Amino acid sequence: MKKIIFLLLFIATNSFVIFAQSLECITDGNDGPDPPGIYTYSTAFNEDLYAPVVFNIFYWVIRRDDGTTDFPIDENYILEAVANLNITFNELNVFFKYKGFENLDNDDLYATISLSDAKTYLSDNNYNTDNSLNVVVNGNMYYQGGGGFADYIGNFNYMYAEYLTIYQMQHEIGHNLGLKHTFQDYGNSACEHVTRDPNDIDDPNDPYDTYFNATTAGDNVVDTAAINSTVPGHDFNYSNCTYDINGSDCQDTPFDLNQVDLENLMNINIPRDLNLCRILMTPGQMVRIRETIEGYPNVFTLVSGTIADLYEPYSGEYYLAGPLLPEHRPLFQPGFNYRFVECCCNYPQPTDFNNTSFSYTNNAILTISKFETDYNSIMHPNHSAIQLDIEFPNNEQNVRKCYDNWNKAALGGSVTKFNDNLINTNITITPKDSLGINNPNLINGLQQGLYKIEKNFDDGSSQETIIFKGNNN
Ligand SMILES: [Zn+2]
Repeated sequence: MKKIIFLLLFIATNSFVIFAQSLECITDGNDGPDPPGIYTYSTAFNEDLYAPVVFNIFYWVIRRDDGTTDFPIDENYILEAVANLNITFNELNVFFKYKGFENLDNDDLYATISLSDAKTYLSDNNYNTDNSLNVVVNGNMYYQGGGGFADYIGNFNYMYAEYLTIYQMQHEIGHNLGLKHTFQDYGNSACEHVTRDPNDIDDPNDPYDTYFNATTAGDNVVDTAAINSTVPGHDFNYSNCTYDINGSDCQDTPFDLNQVDLENLMNINIPRDLNLCRILMTPGQMVRIRETIEGYPNVFTLVSGTIADLYEPYSGEYYLAGPLLPEHRPLFQPGFNYRFVECCCNYPQPTDFNNTSFSYTNNAILTISKFETDYNSIMHPNHSAIQLDIEFPNNEQNVRKCYDNWNKAALGGSVTKFNDNLINTNITITPKDSLGINNPNLINGLQQGLYKIEKNFDDGSSQETIIFKGNNN
């Protein structure tokens, strides 16, 4: 009896492992050499050579028919995932504009864990997926072992919900943008060889030649070493991000590894919920991403937006006029460094992105770090313009969208009379409540003389106006 139970357990565990591996980062058609004319295989990345590119990103969240899921997520959780993408890829001048999410409540999609099924469903139901990178998210815990998978050079990937905010999200986007696993083909005879000597060319008469093949084998990137997958089965130790026992390539040449290989974003972790040792990319990988974007306009042009999109809120609306503020303030994506600098004058709605005629100072009313976790604090204060930490082409001004709205009635304020009709300390101050300071006849009712009128607003700002009241006719 005991023996039978053990056997059943073994079968169940074993089939789960097979299932999990079958879902590992499916990236069809990416073995071997690249098509000609796209890649330079350079290992020197210079951000200045590449103009900023902005990708729209949209999340499709699969749940059961009744809206439940083993791993429920909300918008802030998705925003954290997008923030991580920006923090990782902004140094490549690649930016991600969050375009929203939608729940897909469907038992079949939830159960099948299939990217092609999800694509069919989206297409059959006329959802537009052409203008964004699409992240399909499934919280079905049976998908936990799979982690995530992606189209290699494409605009779809599929993620287990719990891994959205760890390295796995950046890893799958890496596949979308043309990166392969650094350990690609390590186990078979087509493996990437250890040597990095480009003059060591293939000797056709020597079947065991250890020649240089880094541009055509493995991940086709020269400055990522030949390596296997960094998993415990290969003696990888997550406590120090290195192998306890160094491995070798398919010709038994010992691996020659650097930290950037041991902690590379395009390797993998088992178990998959680990977020260790997966933070680095080489310059060669960065070059490959940018050359993929340039080389595959059929994939990446449609999903691209503009820098101007990063200056638009993802939710909320700006106050224009009337007694009440809008229910939702304009909120901006986390993951960027923002400075909201004082600007002027009188733009009741933010200026158009291309209008740089407003004046501004270097004084920041609000500064937000790309690591900010209180997403409700990332708002556009009144009387300020937005400065994003992005270098624009041709050194154009990166301070945009001045919002300087004085239409909201003041909470209160004061009228200061300069008794000598000179700006000095001989003054008389009359406090005013909301009714008094907003009275349209306030100025009409003043005696002749020099005044300062101060208005205080509920967003913390204040406005001072100096007037000289002449004779009433
Ligand atoms: Zn992968």
